[in-house]
Formats: sequence, C-alpha cells, structure tokens
Amino acid sequence: MRTQVCITVDVEFSISGAFADPIGRQPAGPVSATCPVDDASSGLDFILDTLERHGLRGVFFVEVLNTCYFGDPPMETIARYIRDRGHDVQMHLHPCWIMFSQPDWRTLVESGAPTDSLAGMDEKRLEELLTAGLAVFTRWRLPRPCAFRAGNLQVDAKIYPILKRLGIPLSSNIGLGAYRPEDPGLHLAGGRHWIDGVLELPVASHRYFNFGSYERWKTFTVIGTGADEAAEILRAAAKSNASPVTVLTHPSEFVKKTAADYDSLRVNVLSRNRLQKLCEFLSNHQDEFEVTTFSKSLPAWTAHEGTINPSWRITPLAIAKRLIENHLTVS
Ligand SMILES: [Zn+2]
Repeated sequence: MRTQVCITVDVEFSISGAFADPIGRQPAGPVSATCPVDDASSGLDFILDTLERHGLRGVFFVEVLNTCYFGDPPMETIARYIRDRGHDVQMHLHPCWIMFSQPDWRTLVESGAPTDSLAGMDEKRLEELLTAGLAVFTRWRLPRPCAFRAGNLQVDAKIYPILKRLGIPLSSNIGLGAYRPEDPGLHLAGGRHWIDGVLELPVASHRYFNFGSYERWKTFTVIGTGADEAAEILRAAAKSNASPVTVLTHPSEFVKKTAADYDSLRVNVLSRNRLQKLCEFLSNHQDEFEVTTFSKSLPAWTAHEGTINPSWRITPLAIAKRLIENHLTVS
C-alpha cells in the first residue's frame, strides 16, 4: 500500500500590527494571501500552480474569523477560487479576529493583544467560536468542512468532543514543533489518531535534538524542511506505516517582505525551490506515495483504526544540507 501524503496550506489574512498600533496600522486582507510580486500572485497562486503542474491536490485551511474585520467577500472569493480549482477547502480559525466584532476594539487592545490560542479556552467559548466559523461557511455557500485546524496549532483536548458534536469528523490541530500541548496524550508526531470520536491528523513532526530531558522538535513545513530531510521523513513514514504524512505551508512563506506591509514583496527563492522539489519527488515516486486530500480520504480513514504514533529521526547529514541550502540560496 502506498504511503499517503497531505499537503496542507493555511490561508489567512494578517493582523499586520493592528493590535500593537491600532491607530497607525490596519490588518492586511487578500494581499497577505496572494502575496503579489510584480503583479503576479506569488503566494496562493504559486502554490496552486505548482501543485497542479505536478498533478497534485492540496488541502487549504481557510481562516474564517477574519470576516469580523473584512466582512464575508474577501476570503469567500479566495475560498471559492481554491475550491473551483479542484482543491479541498477546510476550516481554519484564529480567535484573535473576534476582537474586531467589538466597535471599541482600538481602546480594548490598549491593555494588550487578545488571545490567539484555543488552548485553555473554556468549552462554551470554544463551541461559540467554532459555530461562528461554520456559519461563515454556510454564508459563503460552500460545502460544510469535514476538517478543522486551530490557529497556531494551539489546542487542548477539550476541543475534540465539541468538533464531534458539531459534525466535524477530522482535525489537524497538532504540530509538535510549533506548539507542544500540556496534555501528553496530544504529543502526536504524525499518522492518524482517534480522540473522542474525531480523527486527528497531526502535522508531521520529528525530534531533531535531545539531551537528557531537553528536546527540540521540528514540524514538517515547506519553508523549514530541506529536500533531503523531506525525503528521509517520507521514507521513514513508508517504513513505519504511519500515514498520512501531513505537510504544512502558508502562502506568505513564498515571499519576503522588504517593509512592514505587503507593498514591496520579493520572491523567496528557497521556499519556492523546496515546494517544487517536494512536488517533484512526490510525482516521481507515485508508486510509493499518494498525495491525497482530507475530503477524498475521509471515508477510508474513518472506517479504520488509527495508526501508531511515529518516531521519525533525521540524519545529521540531511540537517547539515538544509543549513547549507539556507545559507547559499540567494533571493
Ligand atoms: Zn493560521
């Protein structure tokens, strides 16, 4: 059986310093997802074009609560565009955006930025926010999402029974290199895991350094994973039978800002190369790997038990090669 891979993309707008400087700055809308360089969409379209050139489909987690500031149309247009190109559109949510539903938000943020974490939030509030997110999908007249991803990959176990109750069967809320939940039951490095009736598919993560009880983890992002590291993780996943390997990226990874806003962007050559090489590897090894989406694999995944919690290691040589790539790539 082929090892499955999911390329997941969080599509979100940027607060862009508006909480720190509510008078002088404002959130950045579609430009923070399309990331134009010389009028070419070098974020979202670069990802879509690259996937499609290799015959692959991605899973796009589209952020819903930005609608509190921007209204429905800007992200609706983007979500529909992704869906019309044949990719998965699922629900992503950053709770900080709810602040903009308060007319006096500029005064309220003077005492500090609002939380952007779903971890530690009480059940009632969690359910309200998730319900508000689903209502956005309904207003957008898009199919109800079958999967959810929390902003910053920050959750605790309270979210799973609520997702189940709201009829969301899949989640991808965990990435140990990005955030390590307090609950050791959520220390999941990849594969598929049933938690209170919801199937969690963590972003693939591996421990790349440990000394005694001290350890460092890395999550499989496109920008942060060298070509050899990616190949090693994929090969290790094939051996461990813990699939899918869930990869994470964001449109903004493919550009570099030359100022605080999105007015003057330039292409991030390193990230572009890494996505191209990853897609090339996957399309050249279709006998071993199958790139799938959450909606496509939902019936098969939910008909089965989960997988083991994998423990993948990367060779020091692959890490060294990434560091050299980082250093040598001129962009
Ligand atoms: Zn996000």
